[in-house]
Amino acid sequence: MNKHTRHSRATSLWSAARWITLLFTVGLVASFWITPNASIRVLWYVLIPLLPISFLVNVNLWRNVCPLATLNMLSGNTIGSRRLTKAIARRTDVVGIILLSVLVPARHFFFNMDALALGVTVIAVCALAMLGGLLFDMKAGFCNSLCPILPVERLYGQRPLLRLSSTRCTSCTACSIRCLDLSPAGFAKGLAKGKNRDRHWATTTYGAFALAFPGFITAFYNTSDTEWLNAASVYGFTVLCAVGSWIVLTVIFLAGRVSRETALVVCGGFSVGLYYWYTPLAIADQFGLSGAFVWTIRISMLGLVGTWFCAPRPVRKTVQ
Ligand code: SF4
Repeated sequence: MNKHTRHSRATSLWSAARWITLLFTVGLVASFWITPNASIRVLWYVLIPLLPISFLVNVNLWRNVCPLATLNMLSGNTIGSRRLTKAIARRTDVVGIILLSVLVPARHFFFNMDALALGVTVIAVCALAMLGGLLFDMKAGFCNSLCPILPVERLYGQRPLLRLSSTRCTSCTACSIRCLDLSPAGFAKGLAKGKNRDRHWATTTYGAFALAFPGFITAFYNTSDTEWLNAASVYGFTVLCAVGSWIVLTVIFLAGRVSRETALVVCGGFSVGLYYWYTPLAIADQFGLSGAFVWTIRISMLGLVGTWFCAPRPVRKTVQ
């Protein structure tokens, strides 16, 4: 099979995968009304735990098939033509992190129990992705700006294990500054430049997020599900842990004169390690699985994170 045939076959497979994930999402949203409890469990305890693994391998593995990206790009560059400039990106970076920080703790008093609220929220985020596509060029209006998953993709995507290019943009229109699709590892490296040098990186939007994220994850898994009346205490505890994480890690990295590149990789590895320490226990609780399951997943995931830490560069050539 020659290179051209291989490329067009891969393009068709990625395209099919995109439509399958979009149809699956439509089915999942419908199931929130039909079989609410089962659907919530499948989303939070089967599907979502797979995402960080795909980010470690290469963020484009998910970004190439993400249903929100498919909706964001429905209008391509035919309707919206605005670009994501540095000035706009500075604001949308903050909005994306706020969305993540509001939505994730809300699982404890809303989305873990109320399938209707979850379904409506998923539809609202889908509408936001489509609207972003209508106003901005390509992925500039959502995937590279407002998406609440983007900060996590940036953090976990710093050291991709595979080289995998974006298959959505056949030709780049330069819609976004610092496009994650073009350079999964590039965003974190960008922090090392300009005024982000030295200790200032810890107070940039992304630097502060990276330092606070281990505390955010710890707070999430040490909070029980509760009534919505207790929402303030859920957010209060989350903020406390996130700020504590930011302070402790900043002091450690500054005192140890750790370079910002190394510090960001440590924040990413520490966060995803914490995630896969806690998540197997939550899954086992939901499905009545044994301690052997918990430890098998924990050890496997810690092995993957260790490989992610140690692999100096993508271990395989480009996959497309
Ligand atoms: S590859 Fe180019 S066109 Fe596609 S999202 Fe990135 S900057 Fe935009």
